[in-house]
Amino acid sequence: KAKKTLGVNHQYYEPSMEDEVSNRLNMLRKLRADFALDKLELWYQPQLCIKTQKVVGMEALLRWPHQPNQYISPAVFIPLAEYSGLIVDIGLWVLEQACQQLKRLAEVGYTNLRIAVNVSMPQFRSAQFVPSVIETIQRYQVAPHLLELEITESVVMDEPNRVISALQKLKSFGIKVAIDDFGIGFSSLSYLQQLPLDRIKVDRAFINAIDQQDGGLIAETIINLGKRIGLQTIAEGVETAEQLAVITQMQCDEVQGYFFAKPLPHAELMAYLAEN
Ligand code: C2E
Ligand code: MG
Ligand code: MG
Ligand code: MG
Repeated sequence: KAKKTLGVNHQYYEPSMEDEVSNRLNMLRKLRADFALDKLELWYQPQLCIKTQKVVGMEALLRWPHQPNQYISPAVFIPLAEYSGLIVDIGLWVLEQACQQLKRLAEVGYTNLRIAVNVSMPQFRSAQFVPSVIETIQRYQVAPHLLELEITESVVMDEPNRVISALQKLKSFGIKVAIDDFGIGFSSLSYLQQLPLDRIKVDRAFINAIDQQDGGLIAETIINLGKRIGLQTIAEGVETAEQLAVITQMQCDEVQGYFFAKPLPHAELMAYLAEN
C-alpha cells in the first residue's frame, strides 16, 4: 500500500480517506478547526537588555489550548501547520495579533517595546506575505521598527534569493530582522553578510552548554561574530544566574529565558511589565 503523507494539497481531507487518516492528520484537522474558531492564543516572552536589566521587547509565541491549562507544544503543531500550508493563514493571524498588541502597549504608554514574530518558509513563498506585513503595520499605525521578524537558518537556506529579497523590502520599510536558533542549522556563513539582519539569537542549546566545562565556547564565538559584523546579539533560554553571568561577561546585548520570565498571556505580561 502506498504510504500516505501529508501534503499541501487539500484534497487529502476527503471523507473517503477517513480510515487512512493518521493521528497527525487528525491533529491537523483539529488545528484547522480550532484556528477557525479563534482558539489559538499568542503569548509573549519578555526580552531584556543585559546592561539595564530592563524589558526591551518580547517574542510572540503561539499556544494551542488542549484542555484547561494544557497546551499542545508549538514544536508539535507548527511543523504540521507548515507542511499543510495552514501556517500561511496562522502567520497572518499572528502578525495581526502582534500589531494589535503593539498598539495596545503604546496606548498604555509602552511606546518603545518591540515584538518579535516567528516566520516560516511557506509564508515567504506566499506572494501576499510582504504586502500583508506592511498593510497590517499601517492599519494599526505601528512604528515599523517595533516589529521584528525571526527567521531560522533553514528558512534562509531553503530559498536564499527569495528570502533575501523579501527581507530587503521589509527592511526598507523599517522592520527589524533576527536570525533565530543561530548555530544549530546548516547556514553557510556567507549568507550572514548578505542577509539584511539586525540581530542574532544564540540558540538555547549553546546557553545550556555553558554549564559544562568549556561549554561556553560556541556561544562566545557566535556573540563575537555578531558583534564583528555589527549585529545585536540575544541569548535564548537563559535559565540560571550563572548562565546570565557568563553571557554578560561575553558582552551579549540581550537575554530571553525562564530566569526572567516564561512566555506569558496578555494579562500576565502586563503585570510583569508593571513590576519591571
Ligand atoms: P523559538 O522561536 O526558538 O522560540 C523559543 C522557544 O524557547 C519557545 O518555545 C520558548 O518558550 C522556549 N524558551 C524560552 N526560554 C526558555 C528557557 O529558559 N528554557 C526553556 N526550556 N525553554 C525556553 P515554544 O513556545 O514551545 O516554541 C517552540 C517553537 O515553535 C519556536 O521556537 C518557534 O520555532 C515555533 N513557534 C512558536 N510560535 C510560532 C509562530 O507564531 N509562528 C511560527 N512560524 N513558529 C512559531
Ligand atoms: Mg523565535
Ligand atoms: Mg529560537
Ligand atoms: Mg526554535
